[in-house]
Amino acid sequence: MERIVCKFGGSSLAGAREFKRVKKIVEADPNRRVVVVSAPGKSSEEPFKVTDMLLMCAQLASAGFHYDEIFEQIAGRFRKISLELGLSLDIEGLIEEVNQHIGSGASAASCASRGEYLCAQLMADYLGWHFVDAADVVRFSFEDELDEEETFRRIGEIVDPLERVVVPGFYGALPDGTLTTFRRGGSDVSGSLLAAGLNASLYENWTDVPGLLMADPKIVKRPKPMRYMTYPELRELSYMGAQVLQADAVFPVAKAGIPLQIRSTLLPEDPGTLISDNGVQRGIVTGIAVKKNFRVFTLEKTKMREDRGFLRKLLSVFESNRVAVEGTPSGIDSVSVIVSEEQLVGKLDKILEEIRMYCRPHRLMTHPGLALVVVVGKGMIRTKGVAAKLFTSLAQANINIRMISQGSSELSILVGVENEDADEAVVALYEAFKEQGSC
Ligand code: ASP
Repeated sequence: MERIVCKFGGSSLAGAREFKRVKKIVEADPNRRVVVVSAPGKSSEEPFKVTDMLLMCAQLASAGFHYDEIFEQIAGRFRKISLELGLSLDIEGLIEEVNQHIGSGASAASCASRGEYLCAQLMADYLGWHFVDAADVVRFSFEDELDEEETFRRIGEIVDPLERVVVPGFYGALPDGTLTTFRRGGSDVSGSLLAAGLNASLYENWTDVPGLLMADPKIVKRPKPMRYMTYPELRELSYMGAQVLQADAVFPVAKAGIPLQIRSTLLPEDPGTLISDNGVQRGIVTGIAVKKNFRVFTLEKTKMREDRGFLRKLLSVFESNRVAVEGTPSGIDSVSVIVSEEQLVGKLDKILEEIRMYCRPHRLMTHPGLALVVVVGKGMIRTKGVAAKLFTSLAQANINIRMISQGSSELSILVGVENEDADEAVVALYEAFKEQGSC
């Protein structure tokens, strides 16, 4: 029998009404046998995320203040869900357990994890499934890094034999059992690990949007959804700012070759976006993303290429200042280094000085305000005319291109434009390629 791991996000678990929707979805397919939950999030009735409220309790507790008022709001939410669903579990006992945990001086992460813990307890009771504590399964090293090997071993030992199971997302435990969490949004990672550890047939990530869109809806009006995409495409788009899942969530399933489907609990009939390794029928361009506020350092030096260590010296200036480099487009006697502006705070003058000292360029210039726009699509590989169309559409929109880069994989084309032209560039590119999307 196949096994689908389904992860439900906080907005899909905000209250009893949302729990009912989840149950309906889960029961619609008998292969949905592992459910991973976030903590209840925001909704039209609930203005706060349980995780944020727990963090506030932890903050107040560690400063020696009373946290009962906020805690009562958290307790009230879980009580209400339990009551409205007619659950029989000992909700008061669980609430008291969490209260004591916060009062015992537990770390902020440990307190924050209790939202997922309580939510999974309620969901397991509601579905009539097993509850498995993430602390017993998801394990971290003492350095707070995920111990993937041990986690997979425990998933195999504890979760695999169970027919149907609910597991809280977001947290796990250090080798001594102390609770810790992934970064915010980390339930996505928990779900991905469970899917990989169980060699699931599919990882469904249920949220409140029907999959990924071809462009940012804040820039393009009603962009088309992306129905299919590959993991490398998803990686390019998320790296360039397309908000999808928590960034670390993709790796476990991608490595295991398990397809990932992003779907909406509000529109369960909608197929959402399916991300997998292999080709489904697809278009030329999958998506367009943009990231603003980069700075370009341009160096000119005659016979630069004959100076063998030149590039190494240049890059070592950035590396030793702990600044990550985004790209290094180059000409015959010139090279540019692109870095995000936010990394340069308080370091710019020092870096310029060090480049002059170490690389001795004939000219060194630096320009802020660059935006990088990326057009991603596996279908572009070996398709003629894509670049021509891309540049024509930007020219027609009267946008000056400051930089171009296409990796040899031909999976994406990156263009650098002025920050203030970035949104217009995205619109122009979307209009040019929307009919050839992979929807
Ligand atoms: N509840 C956590 C958060 O708000 C984790 C998650 O939802 O994935 O970040």
